[in-house]
Amino acid sequence: MKNMDEAVVILSGGQDSTTCLLWAKKKYKKVFAVSFDYNQRHIKELECAKEICDELGVEHRILDMELLNQLAPNSLTRTDIEVDEDAPEDGTPPNSFVDGRNMVFILFAAIFAKQKGISDIITGVSQSDFSGYPDCRDVFIKSMNVTLNLAMDYEFNIITPLMWIDKEATWALADSLGGFELVREKTLTCYNGIKGDGCGNCPACKLRKRGLEAYLEKKTSVHN
Ligand code: ZN
Repeated sequence: MKNMDEAVVILSGGQDSTTCLLWAKKKYKKVFAVSFDYNQRHIKELECAKEICDELGVEHRILDMELLNQLAPNSLTRTDIEVDEDAPEDGTPPNSFVDGRNMVFILFAAIFAKQKGISDIITGVSQSDFSGYPDCRDVFIKSMNVTLNLAMDYEFNIITPLMWIDKEATWALADSLGGFELVREKTLTCYNGIKGDGCGNCPACKLRKRGLEAYLEKKTSVHN
């Protein structure tokens, strides 16, 4: 019997994955959140993830993924490398891209899910706010889904609620799920490790802020 009442959410502690967690909480009877410790620059991310799970009453598991940093150290794991402002013009991903990261995260979330008899795996990747990360694209997710099913002879279902929506719509979604304040105050997106509205200047903060301002503007204009 397929377990349709439970799901696994890949949770980084940022805006997108937390919005996905809220989304999953509404849709499933029980939700497990999985986070990964890969010695990221901001271990605070994991603290945020834990705090969010405590607040939402979600079972949380942190998996050790330090190996990833041994193999592919980059600007998200080392403080001596500055994060690229934008993706390079030659089409290569920005230096915040960690080779294989999403693939590894999804693989381990799938192993965790299968052990619990769960098929649905939710991840907050999005192709809309183009980050230049190849493993956030829909084609990769679909391919990964097929690969997982073949690898484990099991029917996984990778769900990406944010794939085709931008940051503004992500704020709207969090709000519609009753989690606007939670996402605004408790998540960490900032590359400088500042929770909530962040430093305001790094690429992640700028993207988040633009979306938030656009959402708030629309919201006020609708109500007035
Ligand atoms: Zn920032």
